[in-house]
Amino acid sequence: MSTLSIEDKVGEMTQLTLSMLCDGSGPYTLDEPHTLNEEKLKTAIVDLKIGSILNSGGHSYSSSKWNSLIQGIQAAATHEKTSGIPVLYGIDAIHGATYTSGTDLSPQQIGLAATWNTELVRKVAENAAKDVYESGIPWNFSPVLDLGLDPRWPRFWETFGEDPLLTSDMGEAMVLGYQEGPYPIAATLKHFYGYGMPLSGKDRTPAWIPERQLREYFLPPFERAINAGAKTIMVNSGELNGIPVHINKKLLHDLLRVELGFEGVLVTDWEDIKYLVSRHKVAENYREAVKLAIDAGIDMSMVPTDLEFPGILLDLIKDGEISEARIDESVRRILHLKLELGLFENPIPKTRTFTSEEGDLKNYTLQAAQESITLLKNESEALPIDLDRKILVTGPTANSLLALNGGWSGTWQGDDPKYSNSERPNAAEALIQKFGQDNVINLPLDMDFDESDIEKIVFETKLQKPDYAILFLGEMPYTETPGNIEDLELFQNQKDLATALKSTGIKIIYVFIEGRPRTFNEIESMADGILMAYLPGDYGGVALSEIISGEVNPTGRLPFTWPKHASSHIPYFRKHTEDIHTDFSLNAFNPQFNFGDGLSYCQASIDSITIDKSSYLIDDTIELTVSVSNKSDCDATEVIQVYISDLVASITPSVERLRHYKKVNIGPNETLDFAMRIPLKDLGFIGIDNTYVIESGRFKIRVNTSSKTFDLIK
Ligand code: BGC
Repeated sequence: MSTLSIEDKVGEMTQLTLSMLCDGSGPYTLDEPHTLNEEKLKTAIVDLKIGSILNSGGHSYSSSKWNSLIQGIQAAATHEKTSGIPVLYGIDAIHGATYTSGTDLSPQQIGLAATWNTELVRKVAENAAKDVYESGIPWNFSPVLDLGLDPRWPRFWETFGEDPLLTSDMGEAMVLGYQEGPYPIAATLKHFYGYGMPLSGKDRTPAWIPERQLREYFLPPFERAINAGAKTIMVNSGELNGIPVHINKKLLHDLLRVELGFEGVLVTDWEDIKYLVSRHKVAENYREAVKLAIDAGIDMSMVPTDLEFPGILLDLIKDGEISEARIDESVRRILHLKLELGLFENPIPKTRTFTSEEGDLKNYTLQAAQESITLLKNESEALPIDLDRKILVTGPTANSLLALNGGWSGTWQGDDPKYSNSERPNAAEALIQKFGQDNVINLPLDMDFDESDIEKIVFETKLQKPDYAILFLGEMPYTETPGNIEDLELFQNQKDLATALKSTGIKIIYVFIEGRPRTFNEIESMADGILMAYLPGDYGGVALSEIISGEVNPTGRLPFTWPKHASSHIPYFRKHTEDIHTDFSLNAFNPQFNFGDGLSYCQASIDSITIDKSSYLIDDTIELTVSVSNKSDCDATEVIQVYISDLVASITPSVERLRHYKKVNIGPNETLDFAMRIPLKDLGFIGIDNTYVIESGRFKIRVNTSSKTFDLIK
């Protein structure tokens, strides 16, 4: 630090996108193949001393291409720049190495949450870290810890769903997988905070969330991940309660630094300091915006497409509007991170060889896809389908690997087939491999298929008489603003297709490939079976074919409440008043599927629960025993979900909250008791003073349909 000039320091606080260093007429129009431009490299890295670079130039590269690009950047930084400080490279590897071609893409976070298996998620993150590390990149902009409370929001699928506990557990597992696996890279918690529930449901639009709700629901995942050692945090691009988060010192300093003790690097989101001028209108010009954001506590600006930021920051320091001491705090954090990541010894992360134990190259990506897929309906055991049956495979997401992967896959929007792993089968191909060409009638559709396409499919169905129609419904990839929708309802043509096929009398299975629950109540009754596959990744097609054929028993459970009607997206942890129906009965909360729902072919049942006492003191722990039986001759897997209700509280209690869960296996014809421990101190809430309180009184504990009550005595 003592040898650095102010110019070095402002450079360290600046992050540019790779495109700014490449041949081409502008950051969004690069020449192919993407190549470093010596002059641009010198201006940015040597002259302006830019300390961090992010992103690809627009699409994925091979691992060796990555290494040579980063080698070129690091050579300039370490040999030509006076300070010799290596560049910190960051990337969005949000479901595997998004931008490294040929690597395995796992299910997106919403699917990972549906596994309810944190150990598996940690392994999936370790696998991703390996691919990122081997690309020469030490910093990952993942995981997303925003809650998925509004399915309209186009980043819903980037979340772990609606529940704070499940999100906290999954987030912690992912951070540990990235940072503490055999190939450690830095994780980024994003987007701090209150980003995931904009009033309009559209990306980067205002959120109004009172402090109590922020602390009750939105803060715990960040708090847990910070305590797990997360090294960096990215700021929410939106405004929260009227203030763009990028200038909110109360959140970025008082809450994050003082209260939560976060010591890592705080990076802006894409262009967000400039957006304070152009979108948020809280600063008249770039200079004022920089001052506001740095004052609020930003360490690094993801500029990322202009060269002005370091000069503006330098002027602000020279004019005494920002103190050098303030800048030193940020630079110290950035250098500390570079040091921790070993960049000073190895500007390109050194490729390690796995020991045999670490190197168990089991395909966790496939396992995650298998464990995420959620069976939501299975009338008369419509599923699984015997391999000798004839199946019609159609629908707009049936013949697309892009659909299985969703956004951030090869490209930002994930919509260019040139950059997907072409050797991985899409759903239709995987079903053909499984059932045989002769047993599959595959009629591909695109998203805007019309009445005449439907007529052709009905005609073929009547002609060829398959036993089942497997309809692949849902959405094609998007993320962020391009994924905004006006309405949650499923597309009309998809509903028309289901209705038309129903009239042929054949059994119908819906498979939803989508990152958010689109409402489809109108056609729900026409399905004999329903599978939610989320965005299951590169192995989603294989996993679906195994589940549809019965080779794999589906064990996924919904990490969100699936609304029945387009405007009724209410989480399971609703308040009692939300249960009041128009006829004053208590049936108003009536989702299509509940949070935690999911069926299996081999089903275990929760027989009973017992707790060790009927009243507890605050420092006690509830010893809960859940008896689960499997009355069949196959292996069953169940997710024991423990919900607790605080029956009366000083502020309105939730109807119930998930307080514990455990994924368990029960062998054929086996009955097992599972012991669980729930500390009473976990049963509190953010009270009237916006602080955590635990109140005495009566509680109810429920697992499936078994419940018990107990008292908490102070
Ligand atoms: C997204 C972030 C992402 C960043 C860098 C932004 O548009 O909001 O989640 O990490 O771009 O690519």
